[in-house]
Amino acid sequence: MLKKAFLKKLDEAVSQGLLTYQVDKPLSSCSTFRIGGPVSFAVYPNCEQGVIASLEAAEFAMMPLRVVGSGSNILFPDEGFEGAILFTRNLCRVSFEGTILRAGAGASLSALALEAAKKGLSGLEFAYGIPGSLGGGVYMNAGAYDHELAEVVVESRYYDRTYKGLGYFREDEHEFAYRNSVYKKQDDLIVLGVRMDLKEDDPLTIRARMDDYMERRRSKQPLEYPSAGSAFKRYPGYFTAKLIDEVGLKGTAVGDAAVSEKHAGFVINKGSATAAQVKELMAMIEERIYEKYGIHIEREIIYF
Ligand SMILES: Cc1cc2nc3c(=O)[nH]c(=O)nc-3n(C[C@H](O)[C@H](O)[C@H](O)COP(=O)(O)OP(=O)(O)OC[C@H]3O[C@@H](n4cnc5c(N)ncnc54)[C@H](O)[C@@H]3O)c2cc1C
Repeated sequence: MLKKAFLKKLDEAVSQGLLTYQVDKPLSSCSTFRIGGPVSFAVYPNCEQGVIASLEAAEFAMMPLRVVGSGSNILFPDEGFEGAILFTRNLCRVSFEGTILRAGAGASLSALALEAAKKGLSGLEFAYGIPGSLGGGVYMNAGAYDHELAEVVVESRYYDRTYKGLGYFREDEHEFAYRNSVYKKQDDLIVLGVRMDLKEDDPLTIRARMDDYMERRRSKQPLEYPSAGSAFKRYPGYFTAKLIDEVGLKGTAVGDAAVSEKHAGFVINKGSATAAQVKELMAMIEERIYEKYGIHIEREIIYF
């Protein structure tokens, strides 16, 4: 890994206005879990050219580079990451054309839902309150309240790190399924932008649906604590939170990592939880549920 060479390339890209970067950035400040040691380089491209410049710099300097959106579904390691993380947050251009909404991968799902509502466009209400980016949402087909991004995404544009070029997926090519998509299966693809087709509706009715979903989140989820959302995926035929409750783990803690008393499906950080503590608690949950019900529940949180 050639840190100096990487820095030189990054500085060139900065001088061209393509990106900004930070050195030794604590990952705890980049994750909704508030957990994680430092990353050597946090890179923030301002545009697609900035993404390409970051990738070229990393390849030139043999620097490992990973992509992160809002860090709301990730557990970063306590020791941090020796390499670069490309954060998409500045790729957030948004435009409307009739019922079509185009947005950059870094756009916030909640902000998009609000913008769409103002324009009288329905389809993203469920995403209001999901603290992720559009790219991260498409990666895992984010969803809530019986809706998911698959219903509105018609096209996405990506950069292919292997073939070093741009490409598109349309409609079914996304292979959307429950918390899954083609992007989850091909980690060399970076979502750059997404086209969605929404439906016209009355702005006040749309807003009322969003407020209802938000109220349900506030009343049921432990939003007062850092977390990465639901810790486990649904297991067909079961509510995972109910299973965790039934095996008696509600409130159980390993250090400051705890199963939420309010919603057993959430693992929360009660102050200074470490990734090691979260992993120990998650393993305990998986084991207890297997012992009692003979089923293997699958993590939704991604271990970086
Ligand atoms: C309080 C709370 C509530 C939540 N509620 C929900 C919910 O209702 N429904 C739901 O589905 N999720 C929910 N989540 C989880 C999370 O917010 C979503 O899954 C969200 O879509 C993740 O987006 P992100 O940008 O934060 O992704 P990140 O956590 O940054 O990344 C997740 C994965 O996506 C990849 N990725 C991110 N951006 C790109 C890109 N541009 N190209 C390629 N890969 C990319 C990353 O490499 C990583 O593997 C919740 C989380 C919290 C903390």
